[in-house]
Amino acid sequence: MGWGMSDGFIDELRKALRPEAVLTGDQIDARYFTDMAGVPVAKPRAVVRPRTTEDVSNLLRLCHRDKVPVTTQGGMTGLVRATMPQNGEIVLSMELMNAIEEIDTSSGVAIVQAGAVLQKVQERVEDDGFTFPLDLGARGSCTIGGNISTNAGGNRVIRYGMTRDLVLGLEVVRADGTVLHGLRKYIKNNTGVDLKHLFIGTEGVLGVVTRAALRLFPAPAERQVALCALSSFDDVTSLLRLARTRLGGALTAFEVMWNEYYRLVTGKVPGLASPLPTNHPFYVLFEASGGDADRMRADLEHLLEEAMTGGIILDATISTSNASAAAIWRIRDSSVELSKAISPRVGFDISLAIDRMEDFANRIAGDLRKLDNEAFSVVYGHLGDGNLHVVVHHADTPGRYVEIQELVYGITGEFDGSISAEHGIGMLKKPFLKLSRTEDEIETMRMLKRSLDPHNILNPGRIFTV
Ligand SMILES: Cc1cc2nc3c(=O)[nH]c(=O)nc-3n(C[C@H](O)[C@H](O)[C@H](O)COP(=O)(O)OP(=O)(O)OC[C@H]3O[C@@H](n4cnc5c(N)ncnc54)[C@H](O)[C@@H]3O)c2cc1C
Repeated sequence: MGWGMSDGFIDELRKALRPEAVLTGDQIDARYFTDMAGVPVAKPRAVVRPRTTEDVSNLLRLCHRDKVPVTTQGGMTGLVRATMPQNGEIVLSMELMNAIEEIDTSSGVAIVQAGAVLQKVQERVEDDGFTFPLDLGARGSCTIGGNISTNAGGNRVIRYGMTRDLVLGLEVVRADGTVLHGLRKYIKNNTGVDLKHLFIGTEGVLGVVTRAALRLFPAPAERQVALCALSSFDDVTSLLRLARTRLGGALTAFEVMWNEYYRLVTGKVPGLASPLPTNHPFYVLFEASGGDADRMRADLEHLLEEAMTGGIILDATISTSNASAAAIWRIRDSSVELSKAISPRVGFDISLAIDRMEDFANRIAGDLRKLDNEAFSVVYGHLGDGNLHVVVHHADTPGRYVEIQELVYGITGEFDGSISAEHGIGMLKKPFLKLSRTEDEIETMRMLKRSLDPHNILNPGRIFTV
C-alpha cells in the first residue's frame, strides 16, 4: 500500500465516520504505539476511534476495498505484542465504544460495547446484585473485547470457566464490513455452526468484536481468602483435592506460588506485606465464595484445621475483612510489578498436567543454571486450571532472551504442555506455535483466515503468517 494515496483515503474515512474520529500526525498520542515496557514503535498511519458498530463497519469496508491493514486495540494489556501497529497499519481503538448498555436482570445478562473496561462492568453489575466473574490483574485497563479476543482466563476459572464460558452472544464486524448480529441472551442454541467461537480467543484476526452479551451470576454475599504455607508440591495437590471436596462449588480460586515468587514479590514490590514467614517452599492462596458468611468461615476453618492436622499445611492465615482479602490478593496480583523488578526477564504462560508441574519447574531451573549462571526462575500460577506462569531472570547478554525462550518452550513441548494457557500467541510466541499445534491445525487456521479476511487486513501477521 503506497503512502501516496493516504490523504485521499484518510479524507474518505473522515467523511464516512466523523472528522474527529480519525487522528493523524501530531494528534496521535504516543500511547497508541508504545508497548508496556514503554518502548515506542513507528507511529501508525492513523488512529480511528469509532463510537458505533456502524462506524466500525464503515471503516472496515473501506480498508477491505483498499487493502489497508488494521490493528485493533482494546486496553493494550495483552502480553504478546499483538496491538503494536506495524508499518502502514491503521489503529482501530475501541476506547470510545465503552457503554454498558443493558443489565437484563431476568436473564442474568449484560449487554456491553467491546471497549468497556472489565472493572467497570464488574462494578456496574454488582449494583444489580450480580457478579461478572472474569477477573485478572489488568482488570482496571483491559476491555471486554480484548478479554473475548484472547479468551482471557484469570483468577476464577476453576469455578466459572474462561471467557468463552461467559459469552452468550456476540456482535462482530467482518473484515469486509458485514455486521454479524449474534447478540443472543440464552445458553442453548443448536442451530448450526456456533459462529461466536470463531471470534473468541482468535486475537482479532477473523473479525472485530463490537458488542457482547455476557453471562452474569448472583453476587456472592461473602468472599473469604486463605493463604497457606506448605512444604512440598505433593502437599499442594493434596490441598487442592481437599479444598475441592470440602468446598465444592464455593471454591472460586486456587493459586500456587513457589518460594522464589512469594519471597521476591513481598520483598521487592513496595507496599506489600507478608502475612507469613517467607522461607516455606510453597504458598497457596485460595478463595471461597458463598451466600452465608458464617457458614463459609466455619467451613474454611474446618478445612484448614483438617489440613493442619493431616500435615498438609504448615501455617495459614484467613482474611478477616474485604480489606485483608484484598491485601492477600495483592500478593498474587503483583506479578507484573515483580517481573519488572527482576529485569531483564522473559515471561511464560504454560499449561500442563498438574502431576508434571514439579518436574517441569525443576527441569527448567536445572537447565537454566547450565545456560546462564545469573539466571533463575520464578514460578506461580492458576494451579486448579493446570496453568503455570514462569518468569526467568537472565544475564543482560545479546541473544539470551531467545535462547531462554527456546529452552523453556522446548521443555514445554517435551512435557506435552501448551505454550500459551491464556495470553495468546500474538507476535511474541508465533515462532513457537508449532510446538503446541500440528501443521494441519495451523493450515486450518489459515483457511479460516483466507475465507473471512481474503485481503489479510485484520491484525496481519499475528498468530501465524497466511
Ligand atoms: C497485570 C496483568 C495481569 C494479567 N493477568 C492475566 C490473567 O490472569 N489472565 C489472562 O488471560 N490474561 C492476563 N493478562 C493479559 C491481558 O490482560 C489479557 O490478555 C486481556 O484479555 C487483554 O485485554 P485488552 O483489552 O487489554 O486487549 P488488548 O491488549 O488491547 O488486545 C489483545 C488482543 O485482542 C485484540 N482485540 C482487542 N479488542 C478487540 C476487539 N474488540 N475485537 C477484536 N479483537 C480485539 C487485539 O488486536 C489483540 O490481538 C494480564 C495482563 C496484565 C498487564
